[in-house]
Amino acid sequence: MNLDTSRLSHAYITDKNTAEIIAMAALCSSEDTNKPCYNCINCDKIKRHIHPDITYIKRFDDKREILVDQIRDIKRDVYIAPNEADKKVYIVYDADTMNRNAQNAFLNVLEEPPPHVVSILVTTNPATLLPTVRSRCIEIFSNIKTDAEQNNTEIDKSLLDDFIKSIGNDDLLLTQCMFRLEKLDKTSLSAFLTAARQRLAQSLRNTSNRNCLLYAETIITNAEEMLFYEVGSGHIAGMMLASLISNKEVT
Ligand SMILES: [Zn+2]
Repeated sequence: MNLDTSRLSHAYITDKNTAEIIAMAALCSSEDTNKPCYNCINCDKIKRHIHPDITYIKRFDDKREILVDQIRDIKRDVYIAPNEADKKVYIVYDADTMNRNAQNAFLNVLEEPPPHVVSILVTTNPATLLPTVRSRCIEIFSNIKTDAEQNNTEIDKSLLDDFIKSIGNDDLLLTQCMFRLEKLDKTSLSAFLTAARQRLAQSLRNTSNRNCLLYAETIITNAEEMLFYEVGSGHIAGMMLASLISNKEVT
């Protein structure tokens, strides 16, 4: 894959592999406009992850989210000129784990970046980023698939929506969801639980209902464990219903 660097944007949302190619294209010192060349000193250093003009931002191991302070560090750093290349690149891994504050802080970088700055947000799920962030970036995705898609398992999207909506809010809807859930076979239930956990993790960013959703996450982990030990869907649905209904007091 090559990019026409005469038309390079200052911000991208993309997957991990493409992020590296864009970074290389931005810093590549080849004379050709089709970059990267994969051979020059800049390309080589990027391949080895030792280029001083690339900053990698990721979540700390013990944290759920990328912290707003990590983004504030970037905001200061962008004004410092590049070391070796003509541009500087910031790659934010798991960009969907930036909470709302961090994303808003990042908006400043996206709105008026110095001309030498290229920002790349890496995520498999751009829908979880604020629309204001997305609107300032070019989205490039090759062939990202969710786990469920890779396993060719259909997820009942309406069940997933209803389930997430019901947590801590609507016991009747929750009960109806669990009646639907107990009819799923093992593969579908497994895919559903994975998807539900991903959705909860995303919802955690913008909610006043945080404790409740965190609790729901542990219940889903318990359900996955039960499934692993071949407990039937009916029992799992019953456990989830009992746990999540009584969870109302947790919030
Ligand atoms: Zn190169």
